[in-house]
Amino acid sequence: MIRKLLHRVFSRNPSVPVSSSYFPSAGAHIIPRKQHGITRDHINPCALKVTTGLQDAGYSAFVVGGAARDLLLGLEPKDYDVATNATPEEVRAIFRRSRIIGRRFRLVHVMCGAETVEVSTFRGSTSPDEDDGVTVSTHADEHGRLLRDNVFGSQEEDAKRRDFTVNALFFNPVSEEIWDYLNGYDDIKAKRLRIIGDPLQRYREDPVRMLRAVRLAAKLDMQIDADTAAPIGDLAPLLQNVPPSRLFDEMLKLLLSGHALACVIDLRTRGLHHGLLPMLDVILEQPLGERFITLALKKTDERVRQEKPVSPGFLFAALLWHEVLAAWNIRQTAGEKLLPALHQAMNDVLAAQNKKLAIPRRYDAIMQEIWAMQPRFIGRSGRKPFRLLEHPRFRAAYDFMLLRCESGEVDMELGKWWEAFQRASSGEREAMLLKDETQKKRRRGRGRQKPASGDTADTGGSVANVVK
Ligand code: ATP
Ligand code: MG
Repeated sequence: MIRKLLHRVFSRNPSVPVSSSYFPSAGAHIIPRKQHGITRDHINPCALKVTTGLQDAGYSAFVVGGAARDLLLGLEPKDYDVATNATPEEVRAIFRRSRIIGRRFRLVHVMCGAETVEVSTFRGSTSPDEDDGVTVSTHADEHGRLLRDNVFGSQEEDAKRRDFTVNALFFNPVSEEIWDYLNGYDDIKAKRLRIIGDPLQRYREDPVRMLRAVRLAAKLDMQIDADTAAPIGDLAPLLQNVPPSRLFDEMLKLLLSGHALACVIDLRTRGLHHGLLPMLDVILEQPLGERFITLALKKTDERVRQEKPVSPGFLFAALLWHEVLAAWNIRQTAGEKLLPALHQAMNDVLAAQNKKLAIPRRYDAIMQEIWAMQPRFIGRSGRKPFRLLEHPRFRAAYDFMLLRCESGEVDMELGKWWEAFQRASSGEREAMLLKDETQKKRRRGRGRQKPASGDTADTGGSVANVVK
């Protein structure tokens, strides 16, 4: 408040931006607007309000990270981050609708209408110290993974602690300059994704950067620089030390990036997929499994690019389906009945998943419903199809069944029948019903028999035929 008051009393000439009093350190390369072409009108009003508000109060403030990068690439930024030399408390004091979040890494969320801009104070370097060639750090675990990164620092240090050079550019909306400490601007123009500093050390500090490299290269259509890419295969096992919830967040970003298929292929090529999605490697090696996952990812990518909603639950159901099928098949072969075996298989797969990738429990219900509804698509007589149609999750389960048809797991005829059934009038629907119910009942009356291996009539030909 006092700062604001003083600012008003000793008000500067408004035509002179306050930022002109903030100088970059000698290491910065300043790129003027006429060269880079980004104006303050390109950035979102909330980010503009936050940066000018901070600068009016005498601080430096820049749009940084993904937003500055995306603007330069002609992409629409997903979210805006602002970096400043004001402390979280100082930021909080300037904006009425703001709150400090995070205990270890303290940030401020500033709200304008429905939008939120994340404001972080320049962070200092916490790179492990070099001691006779041996890397030691009190901030890192025994693999070199950083556990603390909350020390305030200069703008240059803030640039250096970021992951890739293209993510370390600062755009000042008031002066419309870009400040570049690490040649990120040239890398953007060359479409080169280059890690900042020593690749080995930076991946050890945070192995998630390897996944980010794959995701950003696909999203930004960039080549991963050779030195940046080289250690990835060898260091892949370090991902096992990353907390599962963080791994899940990063995987979700990757799967919903609109480039999931390209990312998964690249993860596999670089040997990064082990342990991320259990048995992804095994599944991808089975022709049907590979076709199913490829289709699921392709469709997800299409939806994301068309800005249609995507259900992570549906996607995870798809990614784990062939594992469910395998477990289901084993249980049936051991003599368990069709539906109890399916439910047990679903539980087994989810339990294993929750440990490894920490898929949050909130997705379990949708995955279970989609899976459990699959055998019900076979029942096309009596009232069964009508009841299924009314199920609140029908649409998701139907889309899932179509994926199974398209991948070759189930006869396409089933998908066509359901498509026609949905479009049909009520009279037409009655005429479409299959008339095999009485026969089946009679068969059941004669005594239940264990399904022979290969007898998949009730599951749409799925289990035994698919999982060898
Ligand atoms: P996206 O378009 O997916 O949001 P992004 O680069 O903005 O990509 P964020 O997770 O929003 O990704 O991160 C914002 C910025 O924070 C990055 O641009 C980068 O400067 C920095 N950053 C994020 N993750 C890391 C990391 N693991 N190590 C170092 N810096 C990071
Ligand atoms: Mg971002």
